[in-house]
Amino acid sequence: MNKNYIPCYVTNIRHAFSLLFRESAYVLDEDNFTYDIWEWIELEPSDGEDYISTVSRRIRIPKIIIAETDVGPRFNRPKISRLGVFMRDAFRCQYCGQKFSYKNLTIDHVVPRSRGGKTEWSNVVTACMSCNIKKGDRTPEEAGMLLLKEPRIPFVNVLNARDIDLIFYSEWEPFIPR
Ligand SMILES: [Zn+2]
Repeated sequence: MNKNYIPCYVTNIRHAFSLLFRESAYVLDEDNFTYDIWEWIELEPSDGEDYISTVSRRIRIPKIIIAETDVGPRFNRPKISRLGVFMRDAFRCQYCGQKFSYKNLTIDHVVPRSRGGKTEWSNVVTACMSCNIKKGDRTPEEAGMLLLKEPRIPFVNVLNARDIDLIFYSEWEPFIPR
């Protein structure tokens, strides 16, 4: 995130630690405490928590880091990701209008893939599991299920994730713009 706690992008562990050790970023933990890298490496990983091993110690893997430098959200034509689509649609099923958590949502192709529908921003929407199953291999018109809004390329605050099946950490949830 940037200094204003705006999520900017998802990065990998190597890049995150490189920013931290250069003191270009600090860690925000699940209790909203901040740590510089030298404080952070003193913390022992708890049971079951992800960590990296160095010769002398185990270092917890931070889920959120705050960049000291000015990082803007990367707005220019974001790649499609599962998280990006959910964020654009504010975690709301675009058919029934209800909000769901990350793990209870699916990506629906408005024009089904089996009918030539592409995986592009204008053809993918957030759908809950039951709406997705109900819609099946049909267009919204055929299924009689109208979309809340026409899907478009998002231009604000969508994480520029590289992977459509990106891991989603629950620690991120409070910072996702609604
Ligand atoms: Zn639904």
